[in-house]
Amino acid sequence: MRLDIATVCLSGTLDDKLAAAARAGFHGVEIFENDLVVSPWSPGEIRQRCADLGLSIDLYQPFRDFEAVPPDVFAANLRRAERKFDVMAHLGADTMLVCSSVSPDAVDDDDLAAEQLHVLAARAAGRGIRIAYEALAWGRFVNTYEHSWRIVRRADHPALGLCLDSFHVLSKGSEVGGIKVIPGAKIFFLQLADAPRLRMDVLQWSRHHRLFPGQGAFDLSAFLGAVAATGYAGPLSLEVFNDVFRQSDPARTAVDAMRSLLVLQEETAGMRVADLPVVPAPDGYAFVELTAPDPAGVLGAMGFVYTGQHDSRPVQLWHQGDARLVIRPGTDVRIGALGVATADPLGAAQRAERLLAPRLSDMDYDDPGVRAPDGVGVVFCRPENDWMADFTPADPALVNTCGITGIDHISLTAPFDDFDQIALFYRAALGLEAEPEAEFAAPFGLIRSRSSADRNRRIRIALNVAALRRGDWAPAVAEPQHIAFTSDDVIASAKAMRELGAPLLDIPGNYYDDLLARFDFSAERLTVLRENSVLYDRDEHGEFLHFYTRMLGSRVFFEVVQRIDGYAGYGVANSPVRMAAHRQFRLTHG
Ligand code: MG
Ligand code: MG
Repeated sequence: MRLDIATVCLSGTLDDKLAAAARAGFHGVEIFENDLVVSPWSPGEIRQRCADLGLSIDLYQPFRDFEAVPPDVFAANLRRAERKFDVMAHLGADTMLVCSSVSPDAVDDDDLAAEQLHVLAARAAGRGIRIAYEALAWGRFVNTYEHSWRIVRRADHPALGLCLDSFHVLSKGSEVGGIKVIPGAKIFFLQLADAPRLRMDVLQWSRHHRLFPGQGAFDLSAFLGAVAATGYAGPLSLEVFNDVFRQSDPARTAVDAMRSLLVLQEETAGMRVADLPVVPAPDGYAFVELTAPDPAGVLGAMGFVYTGQHDSRPVQLWHQGDARLVIRPGTDVRIGALGVATADPLGAAQRAERLLAPRLSDMDYDDPGVRAPDGVGVVFCRPENDWMADFTPADPALVNTCGITGIDHISLTAPFDDFDQIALFYRAALGLEAEPEAEFAAPFGLIRSRSSADRNRRIRIALNVAALRRGDWAPAVAEPQHIAFTSDDVIASAKAMRELGAPLLDIPGNYYDDLLARFDFSAERLTVLRENSVLYDRDEHGEFLHFYTRMLGSRVFFEVVQRIDGYAGYGVANSPVRMAAHRQFRLTHG
């Protein structure tokens, strides 16, 4: 399929936008009139620039408020159209988008609309141009694709067809099955946009909150599948109006946009991307790499054992149960890389690379890997642990002293502007499924949390974002990251670690008084939780017990969790308590 992007998706002037689209691998563009009007280049020069970049101009848009108007307005509208056809001739663009009217001049008369669109199409045909008629979700009289299709059919001109825009169709909750009756040859153009589920005015929703496919709540693959079933053979074009993307580096946005189209094609029945390898579900975390100055004290007090030094690189392996930490020396404590166990490391790395992630240097890792958009490395290793062969074994005799059995999940924080793209990247590159999104009020602002996991729940990633970040009062931890380990007995783990002097986080008494109000606990059970600063949650499946360490450095901490009877969440209800407790520790201990 040809993959296109509307210039309105990207920030900058036309020059910036075209360069970014070409570099990300797009085949063509929709030229937005505003971008042309402010450009210093003539339409002929724009055509040349696009040709030089290998981009075709597949749509010129938008042409508004044309149809179903009184004769004098109609004559003026035709004059206006002719001038646009002149521009399109110089651009070498052969399809013009006409959106359904929102004009007070328009009347509710399908026959008149069809008649006037027929005249427009005849004029366009004379100049080798086609008209793609689009029902805006807020069109005055025509606001569903079914209605626009009735008018196009009635107008019956070979140069008149439809533009289908997923936002306009899906925001209205329209049934996509009806698209299949439209002949593919009458769909002249296809625009794709996702959006979060919001309850608001549809025009505002469209103008500010559109997202690239896979980043929102719409079922884009059902929509695209229905369009594909018509035999539509034109471009898949992104048309995304988004307040953040309009301000972001267009080169990066274009890459995110391209990735979203690759993923959407893969997820759509009957479409595939030939060179996007399909890989088996991941087998779990092989390791997590932490950059840290000297972790020996904390790791030792948590029961981890130093199990080896790498033969050729200054990295150490620490081990407890199936939880493995690779420690790379560095001043700033942070999660450097996720080691993902998979039966097909090379395929997984090629897949992530095809999803436009840069390859990691083999100077740094023995196994193939990529850099995720948030800077975290993702390294793919065989599950048999042969990656550990490069570590000279130290004494593993004391493994499992505090009951840690493995890694439950990794929690990362994304900058607000990159949250949706980063979530889509991890999901697509690791083959994860999105879990329900949570939003909670934390002491320093609202936090949105979106987790995803593979179907066997071996790889879980929780991605958090401050829903808005304004001003410079910022006592919160900036971009926190944490590793959650599993234990079969969190209380015993907490006791053992406290015994060894681990820096565990104290939870205030009010939390436990509130627990007693919310859950019908025995006094004994509550006392055990309280004495060990263990937090509690419950869902429809089961219970969740967990505790935290204090911060190590400026942004990283550990968590130990116990999932009982298939508890599926992440204890996010307790996150504000944890955040306040971390703040309290900083206040009292500097
Ligand atoms: Mg549109
Ligand atoms: Mg957690």
